Amino acid sequence: MRILVTGGAGFIGSNFVRRTLDDAYPGLEGAEVVVYDALTYSGNLANLAPVAASPRYSFVHGDIRDSALLDSTLPGIDAIVHFAAESHVDRSVRDAGPFVETNVVGTQRLLDAALRAGTKRFVHVSTDEVYGSIAEGSWAEDRPLEPNSPYSASKAGSDLLARSFHRTHGMNVSITRCSNNYGPYHFPEKLIPLFVTNLIDGQHVPLYGTGENIRDWLHVDDHTRGIAMVLVGGRAGEIYNIGGGTELTNRELTQMMLDATGRDWSYVDAVDDRKGHDLRYSVDISKIRSELGYEPLVPFDQGLADVVQWYRDRRDWWEPLKVRAELE
Ligand code: NAD
Repeated sequence: MRILVTGGAGFIGSNFVRRTLDDAYPGLEGAEVVVYDALTYSGNLANLAPVAASPRYSFVHGDIRDSALLDSTLPGIDAIVHFAAESHVDRSVRDAGPFVETNVVGTQRLLDAALRAGTKRFVHVSTDEVYGSIAEGSWAEDRPLEPNSPYSASKAGSDLLARSFHRTHGMNVSITRCSNNYGPYHFPEKLIPLFVTNLIDGQHVPLYGTGENIRDWLHVDDHTRGIAMVLVGGRAGEIYNIGGGTELTNRELTQMMLDATGRDWSYVDAVDDRKGHDLRYSVDISKIRSELGYEPLVPFDQGLADVVQWYRDRRDWWEPLKVRAELE
């Protein structure tokens, strides 16, 4: 099997690539992987260094909006796993343009190219943020989409386009909607890596609003294992939520990161809340559990401890990224 992984140089995509080439996923053993990535600010070939020498790995430097390059790349590809996206909510609040360009237009061009090439399988990686915010209970996959940020609205657009290519053209498309990921190689603009790297260095961290926002944390290894299960056994036209089962307020999460780095609340600065900040996300994972046997396996306290150690050990990876992106 030959799999094209868009956005495979990013945080989650590169995890999927490394683990596929490690033969971690039943049904994908021996698969070849072609990473297709534009290497934007969050794409990083260092994330793929552990597999760069594999004879089953190759890289195409390309944009998903480039139809001609897609047409020359897709022949011979059996399946596409589509991670490529603009992914940071705060950036979408400042400028929604690149989000519509890549997430909506890019996904449409990729789907059209897959249709022209007759690609047999397509997994679209979406997000639980397309559902909006939920005060109580959890979303099943048939909940209406009520995205609140330009990021989640553009992801909802791409999610619905993917679904439409199944309904209209009969393409073998499945969609995954996951909760908040954490793990190694996470770009240090996101909450956990930003806080951990700042706290390791004795710098302050910015906590939005009152810190009462609740997120369900999903280890990236669990997420990509769920995606592999959907790729191998998911049904055409179906949507699968993927969650981690650990809901925490941002204050609780901050306390855990302070404890792990030996700091206290004097290092935390309260900052104005993010515009349109969703209060709570919570996905119901009954469907993927019963159909495909998915369970999140990484306990959050262990996963967080491992991540803190990874950032302690891999300053060589994150320090240049923070300097370049002027993060603090
Ligand atoms: P990321 O920002 O780390 O990686 C995105 C990758 O896409 C980068 O390698 C980038 O170079 C590439 N890319 C961006 N625009 C491109 C374009 N026009 N053409 C080709 N490549 C392009 O993001 P991530 O956190 O790894 O997220 C991957 C996917 O998972 C995204 O679709 C995101 O919406 C989704 N998701 C992420 C989370 C999370 O917690 N990180 C949660 C839910 C869903």
